[in-house]
Amino acid sequence: MKKTVLITGGSRGIGAATALLAARRGYAVAVNYADNAAAADDVVHRIRAAGGEALAVQANVADEAQVTAMFEKIDVRFGRLDALVNNAGVVDQTSRVDGMTLARLQRMFEINVFGSFLCAREAVKRMSTKHGGAGGAIVNLSSAAARIGSPGQYVDYAATKGAIDTFTLGLAKEVAAEGIRVNAVRPGIIETEIHASGGLPNRVRDVAPQVPMQRAGTAEEVALSIVWLLGDDAAYTTGALLDIAGGR
Ligand code: NAP
Repeated sequence: MKKTVLITGGSRGIGAATALLAARRGYAVAVNYADNAAAADDVVHRIRAAGGEALAVQANVADEAQVTAMFEKIDVRFGRLDALVNNAGVVDQTSRVDGMTLARLQRMFEINVFGSFLCAREAVKRMSTKHGGAGGAIVNLSSAAARIGSPGQYVDYAATKGAIDTFTLGLAKEVAAEGIRVNAVRPGIIETEIHASGGLPNRVRDVAPQVPMQRAGTAEEVALSIVWLLGDDAAYTTGALLDIAGGR
């Protein structure tokens, strides 16, 4: 029976690249999405066309009832869970902190932080040897923004990723003796649609010259590190925060 991985936000960008690579490496993949069913279905079709196993599962990771229903669907369909990639995340329009509304802050922290906690909670319940599970791995998507702070653009987003770093360090220690490894990747500027969603469609072009390697990264380059952290090749790696940022 294949190992099963849930990738939140697996419909587009880094999550989609990770879903496709994980399937090629032999995982059955649960492809979570929030709204874009067509994009999730496309990822699932590409995996199945290549002989892999995949399921699209809708859930807003910030909604507790939707998260628990998503894990129950995975239980029914695959009967096991071996890995979680907490990838779903959002930015917002460029703003200084003195212009941020409470509603904006709530949305940002609910999706990027609470969503990751809720999915990790459900995954630990299934994977921890303490709960009768067989162990597993979690990879959280942090960001170089956690180190840089994103002044004048989205300090709120950067702060959610700082929280993800701390979450990773703490959870890794909490479940290390229960067979679960927990790590984070901290991508720099990566070519995906997230920048346009925050109103900065040219952000990759604008930031690339500041990157020591002089270019943005690709979703596939991030996926390679995520899938490495999920697998046995990273058997002694836990609590790591891996920068994938071209030297930035
Ligand atoms: P993206 O291209 O904008 O894709 C976002 C994905 O997350 C989509 O699949 C989207 O689903 C899903 N999503 C958004 N809100 C959700 C919610 N509430 N519940 C469930 N799924 C949700 O983003 P990306 O650039 O690949 O980023 C992926 C992760 O990497 C994020 O955590 C981001 O912060 C992090 N990251 C990105 C960069 C970068 O430069 N791109 C750099 C550092 C870190 P739908 O298709 O249904 O909308």
